[in-house]
Amino acid sequence: MKSLMSAVTGVSDLHVVADRGYFTGNEILACHEAGITTYLPKPKTSPNEAKGMFPREAFQYVKERNEYRCPARERLIWRFKNVEKGQTLHCYWSSACPSCLMKSQCTTGIYRRIRRWEHEEVLEAVTSRLDQRPDIMRTRRQTVEHPFGTLKAWMGATHFLTKGLKNVSTEMSLHVLAYNMKRVMNILGPKGLIQALRA
Ligand code: SF4
Repeated sequence: MKSLMSAVTGVSDLHVVADRGYFTGNEILACHEAGITTYLPKPKTSPNEAKGMFPREAFQYVKERNEYRCPARERLIWRFKNVEKGQTLHCYWSSACPSCLMKSQCTTGIYRRIRRWEHEEVLEAVTSRLDQRPDIMRTRRQTVEHPFGTLKAWMGATHFLTKGLKNVSTEMSLHVLAYNMKRVMNILGPKGLIQALRA
């Protein structure tokens, strides 16, 4: 993937900034395996946190032991692994849950179970990488969000004129092509664009 992207963009050292929620673990893994440096914000809230219960982030993974520490400092040990939707997930819980004084803040079940994707460390690395570069999301907003705002303004209140995934996809591609051509013309001028297309 990297060599294809490098060929298209002309950039060998690729850094990708993804938005919260618009990715899958497998896509991040594919970037990692292709040597692309990815940045990703941490999820803002979890359903548990909204209910006043401990979020997933309150559980600390201890790599050397392959287990988790919970807010009560109990050990959630590895129990089993299974495959869901093609992903291998490892499951952990603590035998201390049934008698835990913090249980009402933790789970409505007998045990609080934590599941870990076999490539979870790749996701952990991309979110912690963002902690080192907090400015990078601002740069993303200024560069990536702007074209979409402009396209929306051009499309007007009705947005898409076509229906169906295939037609809408084509319509969107034409909008993006028009945006890119206008942008290049603004930078290089019409003559510069024609020269670049001929080159
Ligand atoms: S319920 Fe279990 S996982 Fe939750 S804090 Fe108590 S011991 Fe830890």
